[in-house]
Amino acid sequence: MLRKNRLFTPGPTPLLPAAQTAMASFGLHHRTAEFRALLTRTLADLKEFIGTNHDVILLASSGTGAMEASVTNLTSPGDKVLVLTAGKFGERWRDLAIAYRSTLEVVTAPYGETFSLKEVGQKLTPDIRCVYVQATESSTGARHDIEGIAKLVRTRGEDSLLVVDAITGLGTTHLDIDLWGVDVIIGGSQKALMVPPGLAYLAISERAWQRMEATRSPRYYFDLRKERKAAAKGESAFTPATSLIAALGAALDFVRHTGHGDLVAGRVALIDNAEVCAEMTRAASQALGMKLFAPACPAAALTAISVPSGLDAGAIVKQFRDTFSAVVANGQGEMKGKLFRIAHIGYYDFLDTLGVIGALEHVLAAVTRRPVEYGAGLRAAQEVYRKKMSDAQVVGA
Ligand SMILES: *Cc1c(COP(=O)(O)O)cnc(C)c1O
Repeated sequence: MLRKNRLFTPGPTPLLPAAQTAMASFGLHHRTAEFRALLTRTLADLKEFIGTNHDVILLASSGTGAMEASVTNLTSPGDKVLVLTAGKFGERWRDLAIAYRSTLEVVTAPYGETFSLKEVGQKLTPDIRCVYVQATESSTGARHDIEGIAKLVRTRGEDSLLVVDAITGLGTTHLDIDLWGVDVIIGGSQKALMVPPGLAYLAISERAWQRMEATRSPRYYFDLRKERKAAAKGESAFTPATSLIAALGAALDFVRHTGHGDLVAGRVALIDNAEVCAEMTRAASQALGMKLFAPACPAAALTAISVPSGLDAGAIVKQFRDTFSAVVANGQGEMKGKLFRIAHIGYYDFLDTLGVIGALEHVLAAVTRRPVEYGAGLRAAQEVYRKKMSDAQVVGA
């Protein structure tokens, strides 16, 4: 049979065709009125997508560049910081803080779980300069309680800045960052915004901009103050990734179109879409006898599924690829072989989700060499879909 290449990975995610077209036809120089207009409009749209009144900065880098910029711009060597970590991306915050010589406090949770707010509160002394956390931990499929953490930071931390890696959280989780008092939130182009890798973006609070004036960690390319000055004129400090910005503009237009002309409504629809795809996938996996890796706090960005004992997740990943040209993600680090991950972030719909679940039934039959009850996963997913749609009609009525 024909096989189409399909990504089900939590970054990069499937590309929006309109974004690809916008990229391919883009040839403007960046110091022109047309490009300034595009960048200005894209930054304004990003604010609505994030749901913030804070200034937004776009960087030509992968998401980690914006994480590093948060550390270098907001801390001086020796500053005490608090890292909340429950997976490979939390560990990236820890490694960045160590690289720039912060004094580290850490709250950990086991892989697949989230933090005890009590423990976070106990570690939040007023001398903590920054708190770093993920909105969703893409290595485990867990969602963290950003609202609860923000509340603690704002009441106990006084001058502490809260920095959230929402690279897979934006577009999959309802976040009200200005209301909650999140100081920096970070996103990446290759996740919910359906664009190739290469752009990172951050929304930054006034409190955080002020902090930057006094910090002493080295920075040059990622000096956010330079970018803020340039952005006010529709420019960037160095050559921007022009064609990716054209793609991003088209993706944000798509989100607005999804919301019938309202970008905020489009963002809500995109999040709700991921929630339904995730719930369908969770129900299907369980109906097929598999366990969720983060059952108590599952993210909508992706679903991490533990593999049945005696099986290597690599065999599932390989079977998906060989049979269906579909790419699902293995576990990372110590979780490699123990779980696989199916993404719902960005450009996935009902048919994509049913397709990957139907394929999963065949993949399981092949790798376990045991009979699978065909349709069991699909039926569970369809039941979720039916229920969600009838609930939505009741709300709309
Ligand atoms: C994808 C991702 C990142 C960024 O990774 P890059 O490879 O630098 O783009 C960071 N945090 C989370 C939670 C992610 O999912």
